[in-house]
Amino acid sequence: MAKVPLKTALAECRCPQCRTGYMFKYPALNLPKATAMNETCAHCGLKFEIEPGFFWGAMYFSYAFGVAISVIFGVLANYIFNNPEIWVYMVMIFTPLLLLSPLSMRYSRVLMLYFFGEVSYRPE
Ligand SMILES: [Zn+2]
Repeated sequence: MAKVPLKTALAECRCPQCRTGYMFKYPALNLPKATAMNETCAHCGLKFEIEPGFFWGAMYFSYAFGVAISVIFGVLANYIFNNPEIWVYMVMIFTPLLLLSPLSMRYSRVLMLYFFGEVSYRPE
């Protein structure tokens, strides 16, 4: 098995232990099921939810993503529309927040598992 780089494994939501199996059952664009996770890795058998409630910690990452998206699109709205009315900010911020929420939820869990799961990479 070829060695999968960390960035590739993170971007593709792969298992942190083997970097081969996928953490999620469906692609991100399958909106109703975008956050449905596999219980274990299909390749190495790692249990993704390390302990009960492990992914509650992902809300901190999700919060950070939300703040980042809000600031980026708020500044963008101000720059593009030159200090517009408040409803323009609301539309410019809440639309991307809503559209990017499946990705935010997925990558929050991925980052939680990679950074706090204490799972090390074992290529074999
Ligand atoms: Zn695995």
